Amino acid sequence: MDTWKRFNEKDLTHSMAHYLQAVAGLKDEKGHVRVGDIASRLGVSKSGVTSMLHSLSSRGLVTHEPYGCVELTETGRRIAQRTESNRKVLTMFFTDILRVPDPIAIEDACMTEHLVSPESIIQLLRLTSFIGSEDDAARRFRSAFRDYQLHCAGGGDGDKECPVCKGSCLAGSLPDLEAPAPGKRSSK
Ligand SMILES: [Zn+2]
Ligand SMILES: [Zn+2]
Repeated sequence: MDTWKRFNEKDLTHSMAHYLQAVAGLKDEKGHVRVGDIASRLGVSKSGVTSMLHSLSSRGLVTHEPYGCVELTETGRRIAQRTESNRKVLTMFFTDILRVPDPIAIEDACMTEHLVSPESIIQLLRLTSFIGSEDDAARRFRSAFRDYQLHCAGGGDGDKECPVCKGSCLAGSLPDLEAPAPGKRSSK
């Protein structure tokens, strides 16, 4: 099936991931979790929390007795841990390797934390760790990448074959592709 259709069917929405993370965090800090705690941590209404807990428990991710404590199921806890780890790896990758400014890196990582596959996140972690390492090749890569300027051969003309973009040139549809990389100071 087409990826974008499967994407819509994914059980886990972004807010579900954050609710699960909030429950996991509160459980670690306080030992027990109540609706009011979740509401104040996430800055949402108690009725919003209650209706989200309904969806989460129908998916087998939390248990919640009326007026009782909220507990994560085994699957719920695993998803909370996995999405938080994903966010950490993605943030490291965006800041340390791609050199994207912190606020943008943090926001991009947050928005994709619940979507990225375990296969990709493991490779991203390996790549981030390798490029940041003291390996000679990694050191050379870091310094070469810092100074590398992208010159797109197609010049942004979508109809032109571009060897850099592997097919029709993407430069025209991306903002300032030829501008200095983010985080790199202009040498003027
Ligand atoms: Zn997020
Ligand atoms: Zn191009």
